Amino acid sequence: MKIIMYSVLEEEKPYIKSWEEKTGNKVTQVNDMLTPETVDLAKGFDGIDIQQTHDVKDPIVYEKLASYGLKQITSRTVGYETFDLNEATKNGLTLTNIPAYSPRAIAEMGVTQAMYLIRNIGYFQERMDNLNFEWHGLISREIHDLTVGIIGAGHIGGASAQIYKALGAKVIATDPVYNVELEPYLEYTDLETVLTQSDVVTIHTPLQDDTRNIIDAAAFKKMKNTAYFINMARGGLVDTQALIDALNNHEIAGAALDTIADETLFFEKQAKPEEIPEDYKELRAMPNVSMTPHSAFFTNKAIKNIVEIGLNDVVTIANGGKSPHALN
Ligand code: NAD
Repeated sequence: MKIIMYSVLEEEKPYIKSWEEKTGNKVTQVNDMLTPETVDLAKGFDGIDIQQTHDVKDPIVYEKLASYGLKQITSRTVGYETFDLNEATKNGLTLTNIPAYSPRAIAEMGVTQAMYLIRNIGYFQERMDNLNFEWHGLISREIHDLTVGIIGAGHIGGASAQIYKALGAKVIATDPVYNVELEPYLEYTDLETVLTQSDVVTIHTPLQDDTRNIIDAAAFKKMKNTAYFINMARGGLVDTQALIDALNNHEIAGAALDTIADETLFFEKQAKPEEIPEDYKELRAMPNVSMTPHSAFFTNKAIKNIVEIGLNDVVTIANGGKSPHALN
């Protein structure tokens, strides 16, 4: 079988090679993302596997893929709000994601950044850049004395709960789905309680109509002014201007962001100064904000699983089978 894989990362290449050797299938790798301009590259292939934070909403992409005889699009991501599921279905294309390639990868990044904020490391580094080695004013709290509130206790929120619990924190969570397996690690409550009672608020919901901007000015006002807000999920869950205002007005103590609303900046590239949005610059300059470029997923385990699970799905569907990861 001939498969085309878009937006291939250097770190994915060894895993692609060993998958090819194991299965006898051939993967053609391109650096491009899937767009109306690059869709023609998929002509002549039996399967397609992509990974990108940019939207794939233009109907022409789905129409062309169907006209080339493709039956599926595999997205090597958890989130799939970048696609138009109706267009995929209309054109007979099965869309799959990878719902759990390594929830721990993202959970560990969130915990790491929360600890960075709790221990005032950004403030200490700012002082040290000015050759100031004073401690005064930067006394920390300890994680096992704190309450962590999780919004969305799915794969990643659940993994986060387990780590925070192991560190001795009290963990509370809000999620419309009750998962009995998480009982040893967290107590379920409502959003209001998570916002008002937590010292660390960490969000792990998908971005969908009812969660867009779920963290707005009113939500920040409900949080403790000593609370840290952690977003390793999607920038669109948060009203960015409200976040900047909450930080400037000391309504919260700090924020950790692996995602921002406009993610076009964040995909493995060297950006030009004129491409950098003002809100990014403002957040990046704050010592009580920790930012990473949508890299929470980027661990060796996650990359191996992303490659293998994704390519196995391509083969299953292209051969007329069903994948448990089908979204339509
Ligand atoms: P998941 O589907 O396992 O869990 C999401 C949970 O959110 C579910 O339990 C769901 O019931 C809950 N939920 C939905 N609406 C809610 C609401 N209004 N309030 C509270 N809970 C709600 O997904 P996951 O694997 O845990 O991933 C979560 C998100 O993390 C993904 O959708 C993706 O956007 C993001 N993500 C980010 C990275 C990264 O590298 N930064 C990598 C993977 C995933």
